[in-house]
Order: sequence, then structure tokens, then C-alpha cells
Amino acid sequence: MKITIAIDGFSSCGKSTIAKALAQKLNYSYIDTGAMYRAVTVYALQNKLIDHSKKPNFEQLIAALPNIKVVFIFNPHTKTSETFLNGINVDREIRTMEVNEIVSKISSIKEVREKMVALQREMGKNKAVVLDGRDIGTNVFPDAELKIFMTADNLIRAQRRLDELRSKGDYHDVSEILQNLLKRDYDDMHRKENPLIKAKDAIILDNTDLSKEEQLEFVLKLIADMQLTKDQVE
Ligand code: C5P
Repeated sequence: MKITIAIDGFSSCGKSTIAKALAQKLNYSYIDTGAMYRAVTVYALQNKLIDHSKKPNFEQLIAALPNIKVVFIFNPHTKTSETFLNGINVDREIRTMEVNEIVSKISSIKEVREKMVALQREMGKNKAVVLDGRDIGTNVFPDAELKIFMTADNLIRAQRRLDELRSKGDYHDVSEILQNLLKRDYDDMHRKENPLIKAKDAIILDNTDLSKEEQLEFVLKLIADMQLTKDQVE
């Protein structure tokens, strides 16, 4: 049985870590939908569509949307999908603090979301896919067979993001990161278009005290149980 797995939740909860591990284990594709909004943000920065107060120029960005092509290309050396913006690998650029600070404003734009959601639906149309984001289970694939809503302690999340940035030589202090995470969560939960909200049928996974292996085991057990239930009804 090939299914669609939707993983939503707060920023820096480890959604992509578990989504990647699951995709690898099940031989599914992985779609990092946050990377797509980040790539649009990089485009806006590169094309000076952000003003000094970090506010996007909505009109110009919407007009430029047909010129923005975001694709994922699998790198066999790193065994991960990398994000390309108009043919250029932007995997590094999309993870900077500058992008973190603007991405929620960009992702709140209706036209941006429409374009990204259409792409995500196209990429995931054949199932056998794991997607992580904010609105996968509620909006992109509301019929996904398995929906997980991830959460974790705020300080742990900030520490994880700090470590990720540090590993790339980008140094910040934990309070700055924490502030950014909480602001992003607030903006994502309170925007008009497809806000971050737990789907009614999503299963909560709080990974504050769980290792990657334990999280993977938790989700694989959910899938095994689904399979059992399906076999029982058929
Ligand atoms: O998951 P990640 O932190 O990379 O996402 C970056 C931002 O992209 C989020 O803070 C959110 O504003 C936006 N996003 C979204 N909907 C998604 C995925 C990400 O609005 N499905």
C-alpha cells in the first residue's frame, strides 16, 4: 500500500529529519515544502523585492512569480534532494538567518501559496511521498492517509536551529534564534491563508525527549497498525 504522509508542525521541531528518514526507509520521495517558500524568499532578496524594514514588495513579487522556478534535484553523493532556484543550487542560501526573518511574510502571500501548493500537489500526486510543512494535512493533501503534527520544547527547538546554523559557520545567540522561532510560529498560525493548525485527524508527536530512532519507530508502528486495520477490513 503506497500512502501519502503529511508532517506538519512548528519551526525547528525536526520535521525534516524524521521525514527524510521515513522516506529513505520506505523508499518514498521527500518534499521539503518549507524549502520552496525559502527559495521564493531568496529570489525576493536577490531581486531587491524586500525593503529596509524587511517588508516584501508584494506587487512586484506577485508579478515576478511566473519567473520563479523551484525544483528539487537528487544529489547521489549526499543522497539528499537539493533545492534549485531558476537552475541554481540555493541549498545553502535558503537556510540563512536573513531568510528565516523574512520567509513567513513571503509565505503569507496568497499568490505565492497558490503557486507552491499547486507544485506540491503535482509532485505528490502518485503517493509514496512524505511531505513536511505547515499546511500539508489541512490543505495540500487533506486526504493523506497518515498525518503527524510535530511539536517540541521551545528551548530545545532553538538549540537545534542554533546547532544547524553553527554547523554552517553562521553564528547567532540562542535568544535571537528563539525569538525568531516564536515569531515565525506566531505569523504562521495567524496568517489568513492556510495557517499552521493541527489537522483534526493528525497524530501529535512531541519529540522533546525522543531520539531520531525512537521517532522513526513511533511512525513506522503507526504505518504498520494502519496496514493491519486495512487488512482486517478488506
Ligand atoms: O519548514 P521551514 O522552517 O523550512 O519553513 C519555512 C517557512 O515557510 C515557515 O516558517 C512558513 O512560513 C513557510 N511554510 C509554509 N507552509 C509550508 C511550509 C513552510 O507557510 N507548507
